[in-house]
Amino acid sequence: MIQVEHLSKKFGELVVLKDITIEIRTGEVIAIIGPSGTGKSTFLRCLNLLDQPSGGSITIDGVNILDAKTDVPKIRQKMNMVFQSFNLFSHLSVLENLTLSPIKLLGMSKKAAEVKALELLKLVGLAEKACNYPDELSGGQKQRVAIARCLAMDPEIILFDEPTSALDPTMVSEVLSVIRRLARDGMTMAIVTHEMDFARDVANRVLYMDEGLIYEEGTPQQIFENPQKEKTRAFINRVRSFNYQIRSPDYDLYAMNAEIEIFCEKQILPKKTRYNLLLLVEELLLICNPRLSTEILDLTIAYSEKKETLEVVFESSGDALDPFDKNLQPDELGLNIIKNLANNMEYQRVNNKNRVTLMMKKTS
Ligand code: ADP
Ligand code: MG
Repeated sequence: MIQVEHLSKKFGELVVLKDITIEIRTGEVIAIIGPSGTGKSTFLRCLNLLDQPSGGSITIDGVNILDAKTDVPKIRQKMNMVFQSFNLFSHLSVLENLTLSPIKLLGMSKKAAEVKALELLKLVGLAEKACNYPDELSGGQKQRVAIARCLAMDPEIILFDEPTSALDPTMVSEVLSVIRRLARDGMTMAIVTHEMDFARDVANRVLYMDEGLIYEEGTPQQIFENPQKEKTRAFINRVRSFNYQIRSPDYDLYAMNAEIEIFCEKQILPKKTRYNLLLLVEELLLICNPRLSTEILDLTIAYSEKKETLEVVFESSGDALDPFDKNLQPDELGLNIIKNLANNMEYQRVNNKNRVTLMMKKTS
């Protein structure tokens, strides 16, 4: 359906896309992943000519769209895009957002456009909101309207550029569900996303982009379970971490918890996991509290997306002291809570420091 050959894109001196060759077939769902700044958005924007490619060719159904004669609005209708930031018209109602382009660009009658718009709003679960304005909707609802608006143009392929990145974590799933539904219905889609679980189960093919290239491509299984190249491996197995120093027994628990919550939100951890993590840290701090008056405690939380595990590490200087030592531990209850929450707990003496390591599984 779409054939991209040796596509390149420069902004002045900056070479963003070096040499991209790929074929997208009808009905395929392609997930595009990779570090930020590697040209994923630029690639999508080149596909539907929001950015003018510097070289190479893009052929759709046998026609090279980089030809000067190309009907650009027609191409954008065929390859309609959904953006991270929704881009709805705030002065138009939800229904008008959906009917505007079909009336103007496809020459549909107002009546026919409205009938179709309502059908599409039903599909994304928002028929009730037809007469509302975008400002009256949540982020997740706005994005679903944006998807319906995109569908109103009868695209042959939808390009999604991080459709859930601007959303509150609680709203991610409603948008992903709509995209999953489209995938089931056989819609051809190219989706730039940081949602690895989603990419894994919705895509037929995954492109890992890096260095302005499609650095590695394969089935979700190949890319996520067994990436062949070094950078792909590093990206897939990446661990993100959070660090906090506790300097006195009067540390600000609420400020620390707020930072942990922000970290969890960034990793899109479920509410239950967040709650368990906060509880685990709090209980552990209670147990370690006696040493807080004299020592600085270093808290590190690392999340491995691949293993879906959280590692909580407390480090402190000072004399050797095993907080799990039963003889020293008057707080049985706290210890039991920790044992219930953590899969694994370990005390080590490393470089003259006390290190306590706890492992926790992400809950679903
Ligand atoms: P990604 O979507 O993978 O995060 P982008 O495609 O947004 O990456 O950007 C890739 C690189 O191109 C970045 O270094 C960015 O600063 C640069 N870039 C993107 N758009 C423009 C532009 N319009 N003008 C100049 N540089 C740009
Ligand atoms: Mg981007």
